[in-house]
Amino acid sequence: MQTARQRSPISPIRDGVLAGVVVFLVSCLGVWLTYERAAEAQFRAVQGELLQLGRTAATLVDPDIHEQLRDTSQTGSAAHLGALEPLVAFHKATQHVIYLYTARRTGDTIQFVLGTDYLYRVSGDELPADPIGTVYAGQDPFFRQAFDRATEQVADHVVQERHRSYVSAYVPLRDASGRFYGVLGIDMVADDFEDRMRGVRLAAQLSGLAVTVLAIIAGFVAYRFRRAQARAWQKEAEHAEQLRHALARAQEFALLAEQHATEAERANRSKSEFLAMMSHELRTPMHGVLATTSLLQEKHKDAANQRLLGLIERSGNSLLRIINELLDLAQMEAGVTRFHVQPVAVRPVIQDVVDLQRASAQAKGVALALDIAAEVPEQLATDGERLRQVLTNLIGNAIKFTERGQVTVQVRVHEDRGLRVDVGDTGIGIPLDAHDRLFRSFSQVDASSRRRFGGTGLGLAISQKLVTLAGGEIGFDSAEGEGSTFWFTWGSAPES
Ligand code: ADP
Repeated sequence: MQTARQRSPISPIRDGVLAGVVVFLVSCLGVWLTYERAAEAQFRAVQGELLQLGRTAATLVDPDIHEQLRDTSQTGSAAHLGALEPLVAFHKATQHVIYLYTARRTGDTIQFVLGTDYLYRVSGDELPADPIGTVYAGQDPFFRQAFDRATEQVADHVVQERHRSYVSAYVPLRDASGRFYGVLGIDMVADDFEDRMRGVRLAAQLSGLAVTVLAIIAGFVAYRFRRAQARAWQKEAEHAEQLRHALARAQEFALLAEQHATEAERANRSKSEFLAMMSHELRTPMHGVLATTSLLQEKHKDAANQRLLGLIERSGNSLLRIINELLDLAQMEAGVTRFHVQPVAVRPVIQDVVDLQRASAQAKGVALALDIAAEVPEQLATDGERLRQVLTNLIGNAIKFTERGQVTVQVRVHEDRGLRVDVGDTGIGIPLDAHDRLFRSFSQVDASSRRRFGGTGLGLAISQKLVTLAGGEIGFDSAEGEGSTFWFTWGSAPES
């Protein structure tokens, strides 16, 4: 494909003028050739007519009398007048003929014999008539050739005189035996030819005018076309330039985005590494605190100390839970969470989680029901601890946010080998505007929820990450004041 850069620049005015000139020249050539042809045809028609008249007139000359008329003194004689009479009659009967005359050759000279101007003159002819024997002094080559070759000759051009123009033709005179004895000349006014040519010339002039207009139109059209083309090329070049510019910018942005992504990833990783390390460092002394507390509880049985130690224990456990959640999340974000797949007896795992939560449900007067569908298999290839973690989180939330009524846990088979778990409650529900942010880390419905129910806002974020690791999905349906149902699907590896 030709690119805009390789194209030579367009000059619409130059191209328009060029197109106009070419059209003008070619058309003029055509008009000129047509004119020449027409002029030639017209002239040939005149020549043909003239020869025809000459041939007819030649039959009116009596060879014998013509032979006798040799001396100037015979001019005006009865023989002379008698010989002239039919020619003059013929002359008078024709239009446009100026002269009819005959001549013979004697030695090297050509001498006139008969001339109709002796008896009949057309207007405009002022010269005196030539007497018999007058020597021809002119140089008309056709007249001489008629004698040299004894053939018909007709001039190939119009002779222009001061008052008139004429064409001449020459016809050989032969007697009954075919002997050549002279030449009959006939001159005819070329007015008729001129008239005919005037029409042809007018047509040629009109054609010339049409050709000029055509050339101007062609030039204008070519100019407009080239100008449109030049504009289109310019636009194309501009678009190409814009595209190049946009591409360059896009590449810059892509590079920048890559840099940012790398930086963000690095920052995220160091944050997670920091959190993981800190959580670990916090967990160890916390265990120490809790173990010491339990030792002290055994030692100091009085009510006041028991109350204080109980407070330390609860606070320590709550702190440990937070530290554990943080550690979990940090490990998952750092991508170091292990998903340990092995055959798991899923029913006992689920049952165990529910049983552990039953006490807190009962303490609040909330019923806790478990329904495991019959088709749920005994064993699944999965990470049982992770499944336990998600279940604990959802059931714990359901109990936590339900004041009265019940929490139901339903377990079914999902897509052949997976599980679908629905944890429904009749609790406080979740307002619509909080739905979007619930699975984000450290996200709770509002600040009062933290004050009233405690928690970190990490449980759902961790559950979502674990469910994703297990190849499943997590979601919920809830309306404020109408309870919630949190559900998740849990994939399992194919059994080997
Ligand atoms: P935490 O429970 O520690 O605050 P979670 O991530 O488990 O953190 O839950 C985030 C928030 O989602 C909760 O604080 C609560 O506002 C809302 N929530 C979760 N489960 C329920 C539920 N069953 N009913 C009503 N609100 C819930």
